[in-house]
Amino acid sequence: TQLENEVPDKDHLRFFSLGGSNEVGRSCHILQYKGKTLMLDAGIHPAHQGLASLPYYDEFDLSTIDLLLISHFHLDHAASLPYVMQRTNFRGRVFMTHPTKAIYRWLLNDFVKVTSIGDSPGQDSSNDNLYSDEDLAESFDRIETIDYHSTMEVNGIKFTAFHAGHVLGAAMFQIEIAGVRVLFTGDYSREVDRHLNSAEVPPQSSDVIIVESTFGTATHEPRQNRERKLTQLIHTVVSKGGRVLLPVFALGRAQEIMLILDEYWQNHKEELGNGQVPIFYASNLAKKCMSVFQTYVNMMNDDIRKKFKDSQTNPFIFKNISYLKNLDEFEDFGPSVMLASPGMLQNGLSRDILEKWCPEEKNLVLVTGYSVEGTMAKYLLLEPEAIPSVHNPEITIPRRCQVDEITFAAHVDFRENLEFIELIGASNIILVHGESNPMGRLKSALLSNFSSLKDTENEVHVFNPRNCVFVDIEFKDVKVA
Ligand SMILES: [Zn+2]
Repeated sequence: TQLENEVPDKDHLRFFSLGGSNEVGRSCHILQYKGKTLMLDAGIHPAHQGLASLPYYDEFDLSTIDLLLISHFHLDHAASLPYVMQRTNFRGRVFMTHPTKAIYRWLLNDFVKVTSIGDSPGQDSSNDNLYSDEDLAESFDRIETIDYHSTMEVNGIKFTAFHAGHVLGAAMFQIEIAGVRVLFTGDYSREVDRHLNSAEVPPQSSDVIIVESTFGTATHEPRQNRERKLTQLIHTVVSKGGRVLLPVFALGRAQEIMLILDEYWQNHKEELGNGQVPIFYASNLAKKCMSVFQTYVNMMNDDIRKKFKDSQTNPFIFKNISYLKNLDEFEDFGPSVMLASPGMLQNGLSRDILEKWCPEEKNLVLVTGYSVEGTMAKYLLLEPEAIPSVHNPEITIPRRCQVDEITFAAHVDFRENLEFIELIGASNIILVHGESNPMGRLKSALLSNFSSLKDTENEVHVFNPRNCVFVDIEFKDVKVA
């Protein structure tokens, strides 16, 4: 293993990724400076299973890590944490925000179940499972929490959590080691949301920004247009008797979509309300997770807190949405709208409903999240004539339903990303969390944006390394405050 043998020069800050560089999935980045080692995120890759879904943990000696920070609860950022904590020689401390920890527990519990259900019958599933319920429970007890805007210190590494938007509990971390400050955005959004605070600019400057590049140089339509398109498209399909499947990640963006639909149904009661067109939220986690959302209203934006205060009812207690734990209790008569997880249709509830509904022309599958390369959601967007059945890949199912995509993934687009990067003003930009092409385009756009600073002392350096490739940045004469 080549990575662990080399120690960076004492003036150099070293960055490299064990996953999540030039790809979306299995995020895991390492920072080394002045003998301190830090890990950022510990995700899995949603297009792979078992050990193949992990970051390249065997390329690095995890026992050298002082501190591990988890930006948010999404599986591509947090789902290999129990593996790291229980099945490797990692001995560092782990921090996340309170809501992330609360949701992490239920999500990963479900992840363990879903991944073992995915195993083919008769096959020994223990090899494929990354960790057990017991590992998860034991890791949970050792995870420490951090409040937004509070600074902690571990072994000379200072770190502060800031709001990142994106999903409930998501944080950006500003890290300071020996006077050098690094901002890690995780996944972030800057647009005003129905329920979340958008990402904020830390009051102190940063020397390095590690920033997501999911959407590259693409531009999102304004939020109001997207909301209107979403509700009109769904309304048209159900009024013609069609069924609408919205594959969603159980938690996070699903709640934003539910706020939009519940309000729209409320405003169109005569046509849609009173069970005429029911909306279902199908997830094993539905009830548990909604109670987490109901608990953390105080961590959301002013708008939703005001609604909470004014109406004296919780905005996450929906009037037009009912919960389904599984499909046994689902009577599939007439038009309906179904939000079901997982969001990329890999297996589980959303995949079962897809296979049931996709042969019919009048039905709609509407993708609202970011679809990772190699998943069914990404494949479906190519409008294939047929899809393989998840239970028996030799059987194909005709795909005649409509497929559409309206993004509510809550990642910055190019304009928002550039504006934020400019506000941070770091002279070293490291791009992560993006497929190679959009990331490469973002790099070019950033370099041309900052071209006037080239060959000056404020020159901006942009890096788009691959996994396991070092970026070394020299810091000389850093004043330690
Ligand atoms: Zn995310």
